[in-house]
Amino acid sequence: TTRYERDPKLRQQALSFHGYTCMVCGFNFLKAYGDIGRGFIHVHHVNPLFETGEQIVNPKTDLVPVCPNCHCMIHRDKNNTLTVEQLKCMLK
Ligand SMILES: [Zn+2]
Ligand SMILES: [Zn+2]
Repeated sequence: TTRYERDPKLRQQALSFHGYTCMVCGFNFLKAYGDIGRGFIHVHHVNPLFETGEQIVNPKTDLVPVCPNCHCMIHRDKNNTLTVEQLKCMLK
């Protein structure tokens, strides 16, 4: 994960906009687990090219909610970070 994904302010802004449902597989922790899952989701930064630069991050377009499983798959190949769309197509 990148530091943008860990920034609590950006994370909160992204989640207020996108909600808490995985954008790849549609998993929602509150729906699946009840109260204990409330507010739980990973946030993925969609523009890894700029991970190391001082870039202004737009939480609406640059950060997306994904469940930990999908998030791991997105980053599985370190040399080729997948997009949400690419992983969605691979999901069976
Ligand atoms: Zn997912
Ligand atoms: Zn990520």
